[in-house]
Amino acid sequence: LKIITSIKDQKDYCNSLTKKGEKISLIPTMGNLHEGHEKLLSQAGAIKNNKIVSLFVNPLQFNDINDYKNYPDSIDSDISILERNKIDCLFMPVENEILKGINEIQCLRLPDYMNILCGKYREGHFLGVFKIVMKLFEIIKPSVAYFGKKDYQQLIMINYIVKEYFEDKIKIVACDTIREANGLAMSSRNNKMTKSQRNIASFVYKELVALKEIIKADRNYNFKELRKISIDTLSVMGIKIEYLELLSSNDFSEIQKNNTDNLMLFVAFYISGVRLIDNIEV
Ligand code: AMP
Repeated sequence: LKIITSIKDQKDYCNSLTKKGEKISLIPTMGNLHEGHEKLLSQAGAIKNNKIVSLFVNPLQFNDINDYKNYPDSIDSDISILERNKIDCLFMPVENEILKGINEIQCLRLPDYMNILCGKYREGHFLGVFKIVMKLFEIIKPSVAYFGKKDYQQLIMINYIVKEYFEDKIKIVACDTIREANGLAMSSRNNKMTKSQRNIASFVYKELVALKEIIKADRNYNFKELRKISIDTLSVMGIKIEYLELLSSNDFSEIQKNNTDNLMLFVAFYISGVRLIDNIEV
């Protein structure tokens, strides 16, 4: 595993690969790697490209300074996971260097649908992701990049960026959400919870599955009523729902006339001060 921290060295490394005719796969992360990340690494391993993982805890995408400061860090274990998965290069940019001039990046307005769900509750979050992903794509020039469906709204934004700024030349691979045995979506933030809190958090996923079954079984479903019951049920367990929405998976538009095609349930919630998100296809 080659570890690179300077942008110039990373560009030189990538240019030398391109000169040799090698293609690059990029897996962007914020570190504290778990089995969800490993799914992205193993999918990347399925093709012969040179595999680069970026690890950068991007302050621009945190709307809560304490969330940023307390973001878990486990570099030694991250490196062994990357080695185990035969990743060729780890790009760990230095904050000052990667953020230098980043606010001058010309931003087209993000589509309106980026202002709902997490875009509504985490001010500036997606613009922060947008800027760093633009910079990573420009430095590394991948032909393939891997993102998780767990962060579904982020995934849709990345598809938009690739279309608007990179002429659709970067292939985006969307990876399924990896879950703990109890159903809780794996997340670096899960480390901040006790075992029993993680168990309680898993009831949100169970609730999503139950909602899905009801919606599929009964075309006359009333989502507003179903949502209220779910929120009440979960709040008794100490779970505070930030949003719970049933929307189109293509553009997050509201569902017309109890449609049952391309639907997704999206949720964000707090448990003991830890904010988590999840979604499922219906
Ligand atoms: P993060 O380090 O949280 O920024 O995540 C890096 C990438 O891993 C993103 O594309 C995430 O969507 C993806 N990811 C995080 N958790 C999971 C998971 N449980 N299953 C699949 N992909 C995930």
